[in-house]
Amino acid sequence: MIRFALACDRGHGFDAWFSSGDSYDEQIEAQAIVCPTCGSSHVKKAPMAPAVLRGKAKETESESPAAGERKQTYAFLKGMRNYLKENADDVGKAFPEEARKMHYGEAEARNIYGEASVDEAKALHEEGIPALPLPKLPEEHN
Ligand SMILES: [Zn+2]
Repeated sequence: MIRFALACDRGHGFDAWFSSGDSYDEQIEAQAIVCPTCGSSHVKKAPMAPAVLRGKAKETESESPAAGERKQTYAFLKGMRNYLKENADDVGKAFPEEARKMHYGEAEARNIYGEASVDEAKALHEEGIPALPLPKLPEEHN
């Protein structure tokens, strides 16, 4: 016997036992399996991963709002990073120092980017230097 996790077209999940995979195919084809919740015979194997079904949402809309937001943030950060790479100097770990020099007129004002610790970024902020921390993108975690 094999157990399959099934779901009807209204998103009700349930388990059913079959003598074999072929038996499953036959019974599905014959619409012999009905949803115990609503009686629908439009039943298919449920995805193995847990999923959230929201009402009548189409499959293309099944992406959670949080995932969409993450994608947007990612695209935004990636765009900004590409912009910086082309239009700003990478000063690396010298970022806090360079940012200060520019702020106090000791260096020519220009676009720079680089690395700063949380404390350094905080200190810059307290000095009124508009430094923007750029989180690392997933692809850069090596
Ligand atoms: Zn159902």
